[in-house]
Amino acid sequence: MEKLQTPYFVIDEAVLAGYYQMLENSLRQNWNNYLIGYSFKTNSLPWLVSFVKKNGALAEVVSEDEYLLARRLGYEDREIIYNGPYKSEASFRSVLLAGGYMNLDSGQEISWLTGLASEYPSKHFTVGIRANFDLEKRCPGETTMGEVSGRFGFCYETGKFAEALRTLREIPNVSVSGLHLHSSSKSRSVNIFRSIAQMACQLQQEFQLSLSYVDLGGGYCGGMEGRPEYPDYFPVVAEELSKCFTPDQTKLIVEPGISLISKCTTFVTSVFDTRDIRKTRYVMTDGSRFNIDATMIKTSHLFHILHGEPAAAERPVLPQQVISGYTCMECDRIFSYENRPELFPGDRIVYENVGGYTMSLNPLFIQYFPPVYVRRNDALIQVRRKWTPEDYIQGSVLDQEEERKIQNERKA
Ligand SMILES: *Cc1c(COP(=O)(O)O)cnc(C)c1O
Repeated sequence: MEKLQTPYFVIDEAVLAGYYQMLENSLRQNWNNYLIGYSFKTNSLPWLVSFVKKNGALAEVVSEDEYLLARRLGYEDREIIYNGPYKSEASFRSVLLAGGYMNLDSGQEISWLTGLASEYPSKHFTVGIRANFDLEKRCPGETTMGEVSGRFGFCYETGKFAEALRTLREIPNVSVSGLHLHSSSKSRSVNIFRSIAQMACQLQQEFQLSLSYVDLGGGYCGGMEGRPEYPDYFPVVAEELSKCFTPDQTKLIVEPGISLISKCTTFVTSVFDTRDIRKTRYVMTDGSRFNIDATMIKTSHLFHILHGEPAAAERPVLPQQVISGYTCMECDRIFSYENRPELFPGDRIVYENVGGYTMSLNPLFIQYFPPVYVRRNDALIQVRRKWTPEDYIQGSVLDQEEERKIQNERKA
C-alpha cells in the first residue's frame, strides 16, 4: 500500500462492525427489547453516523446543532433521542410531536412541554425524565465527579425529581414513560451499571412508574485490555432490571459512544524533526495533542511505532525522548518515550483507540482537520478530506474593499 501523507485518522470498518455486532448480540441475549442510540457528541463524523444509522441505531443528540446534523444525515424526528440541558424549543417541539425520545432535563423544558400539551389537547405526549442521583455513594471512588454532584437532570435526593414528576403528572395528556440515568464514571465498571439498573428499580417502585423504556445512557468500556466489554455488562443489567421490569413492557435503551468506536480508530503521525535543547531530546511530530487529547486529560497513550531506516535494533537507545506535536504551544507534548531506540524524521507513530472525543473536540488551531480514511478489506477509502483554508473561511465576511482587491488581483 502506498504511503499516505500524515497525519490522518483510520477507522477499521471490520473492527467497528464487530463491536456493533457484539453490542447487539449481548443486548438481544439479555434483554430482547432494546434500542441503540449513538452518541453524536463522542464522534459525529458523517461517515460514522451513516454507518451506525444503516445498522439501525437512533441518533442521541444533546444540542440543536447536533439535532440538525442528525436531520441532515437522514434521521427523522421520531428516530432522535434528545438529551442534555441545552435543547432549543423549536427542535424540542418537533421531536415530541413526531414521537421521538425526549428526556427532560430542566424546569424550562417542563414549561415548554406544558405549553405544547395545551396547544395540542387531543394529542398524547410521552416523555422520559433524567434522574440525577448519588451514584458515588453506591460506587465509592468510581464516578467522575466524586463527592461533588453531577449537573444534569432532576435530583432525587433533594426531592426535585419527585417535584418534577408531580408537575408532569398533572398535565392530562402527558405521561412519563421513560427514565434516563446516564452518569459518567471514571471506572466504567460493571458495578456502575448494576447500580444504575438498581436505581431504575428503586425509582420505579418508589414512584410507581409505568415505564416503556429505561435508558442507561453511555459510558461503557470497549476495546481496552483487561477491562469490561459489552457481554460483561448486560447480563448484570438484565439481572437487576428483571426484578422490576420485563422486556415485554420495558425497552432497554443504551447510548454508546466511545465503547463502540475506540478500538477501531487509529491516528497516524510522522516525525518531522528532532532537537536537543539543554538536556532534553524533543521529537517533533505532525500529530498534535489537540488531535487526540484536546481536553488535556490523558495520562497515557496506546501506540506503536513504525521505524524507517535504520531498523530499530540498529539504533542507539536514548534514556528519554519527548514526543511532541506541531503546534506552537509548549503544552503540546504528547508522551515521554523512555529507554527506547532513537527516533528519526520519517518514523511513524500510530496512536490506537482514538475514536472517541478526538475528532469531535479537534480545534481549528494552526492546522485544520486532518483527513479520515476507512479501512475496508485492504483498501483505505477517504471519508473526509483534509480541511483547507477555504473550509475555514466559509461563512465569513472580509472587509469589502480588501475582498474586492483580492478578487481583482486574482483575475489579473
Ligand atoms: C456522553 C454521553 C453518552 C456517551 O458516552 P460515552 O462515554 O462516549 O459512551 C451517552 N449519553 C449521554 C446522555 C451522554 O452525555
